[in-house]
Parts: sequence; structure tokens; C-alpha cells
Amino acid sequence: MNNIIFGPIHSRRFGKSLGVDLSPGKKQCNFDCLYCELEPAKTMTGQDEVLSVGQIVEAIKKGLQEHEDIDFLTVTANGEPTLYPYLNELIDEINKIKGSTKTLILSNAATIDEPKVQEALLKFDEVKLSLDCATQSCLKKLDRSHSGIEVEAIKAGMLAFKKRYSGALVIEILIVKTLNDKAEEIKALNDYLLKLQPTRIDIGTIDRPPAFDVKPVSYEELLKISHWFDSTLPVYIASRKKTQMNASGYSNEQILDTLRKRPLTMEDIEVLFDEESQKRFQNLLKREKIKSVETNGVKFYKKA
Ligand code: SF4
Repeated sequence: MNNIIFGPIHSRRFGKSLGVDLSPGKKQCNFDCLYCELEPAKTMTGQDEVLSVGQIVEAIKKGLQEHEDIDFLTVTANGEPTLYPYLNELIDEINKIKGSTKTLILSNAATIDEPKVQEALLKFDEVKLSLDCATQSCLKKLDRSHSGIEVEAIKAGMLAFKKRYSGALVIEILIVKTLNDKAEEIKALNDYLLKLQPTRIDIGTIDRPPAFDVKPVSYEELLKISHWFDSTLPVYIASRKKTQMNASGYSNEQILDTLRKRPLTMEDIEVLFDEESQKRFQNLLKREKIKSVETNGVKFYKKA
């Protein structure tokens, strides 16, 4: 099958990344999220259309030969990659041939409480898990999870995994208007994430047309939501949606106060601060009133 490999995709965060699709033939997922870009499909707990490890490894070898200097191999699927039954064997084979290329898996985390899945994920250099909801009602409504999938099991599974894992664990939260953008839901996520202490938390919204008629939130709303999280949590606004927001003037005190409440990236600073305020920001940085911290490839600025 020749559509196992896709890309390479260039990004600031991952450099040159080659995608590996463990379900190129059809959507195979234990969720049927309202915001999914794929056609709605019946949820499942295991793949019924399964590639062999050999087929995937051959495709990866070819991909690595065709494209030089790949920084990351990103394992994903049309659906959920951990439903692939030979994930453990596959990552062992990938690790034999990957050379200096790093490995990343993108998962919806619904299976993270399974020991077999944890064993496989431990062998990746980086793991990115979705967690849109910290309550069962939200999970059911937004992610339309397969019956029997419990948010408490996901949360416990992530905590157990984090204890064993030494690589970068990034949590991705996709915010959808009216579904998980309320203060109570964010509070539940915040309380849990304070326990989990992931490497980074990316919050974003719908960027491409989804299967169902659900709406994104604006950058302004994402920014407001980011303030509802504890300021010690490394929250990164990852949405690519453009903002209508006008940059405002900030005094030195206001800049420091803003960065005390929530560390910001340069992208945020360019949206929020007008030209004069950005000069003040640079000046404060020079005077070491502000410092930068790097979290898994993303630079945040915070009050020193
Ligand atoms: S987990 Fe991913 S693939 Fe599965 S339904 Fe949700 S968005 Fe689609």
C-alpha cells in the first residue's frame, strides 16, 4: 500500500516530519469526534483492516530513502493509531532503522489505560495525547466515544503512563464553541493537568471544516480560556486561526503583570502588544525583568 507515508511536513516545532498512517484504507477510530475532518464512522475498539508490520516498515524505509534529513517520524492514522494491534512490534522495528530521526505518536488517549498500549508508547521519543474533556458527559458529547470508554480510566491511565515515561508528553485540547469552552469544563481539565504535569499543553480550536456543524472559538476566547488555567501550567495557544483583535498599548507594569499571570509566546505578544509596547517588552527583556523559558521547542516569556 503506497499511501502509508505522507509528507514531509515542515513545522517550526518538529522540523521536517514524515507521517506514517496506520490506517490508510479507511477511518478506524474509537471516537467519532464532532470536529473530525474525516467522514463520520462507526466507532470500534480494534482495527478490522490491518496492515502487516513488514508493509509499514518497508514504506518507512522507502520514505526515509526518498526524503533526506527527516527530523521526526510521526505515527498517526485515519482514526486512532493505538488501535493498530502490532504497535509494540512496529515501534521496535522502527527504532532499529530510524537512525537519528525521532519518533512521535499522536493519540486520542482512549486506550492509554491499557498496559499493552503503554508499553508501546514508552518506546516513542515524544507522545502527544488529546484530552478535550475531563468529564464523562463532555467526552460522550464532543468526542462521541465508543461505549465503555470512561474519562476516569483515561485520566488514571495518563497519570500511570506519565510516571513511567521520560520523553516529552504533550497534551492537546481542542476547544469547540458551546461544547468544552465553559469555565466548569476548563476547571476540571485544569485540576487534572495540575496533577499530571505534562511537558506542555496545546490549546487550539477547529482549523479545517469538520464533519458536523460545530464552530471554532476565536483567538480572543482561546486567550481568555488560557487564563483560566493555573499560571504554572505551560499552556500554549496552538490555533492557527487568525485574530481580529487589535493590539493595545501596555505600560511596563501592565506587561509584567500580564506575563506574571500567563507566560506568552512571541506569537501572542505580537497579537496583543502594539508597536510601542513591543519595544517596551524588548527593553524589559534586555534588562532581565522578563526571562524566556523553552518547553519542548516552544519559547515562552515570563516575568523574571
Ligand atoms: S480521534 Fe481523531 S480520527 Fe478519531 S474521530 Fe476524533 S478527530 Fe477523528
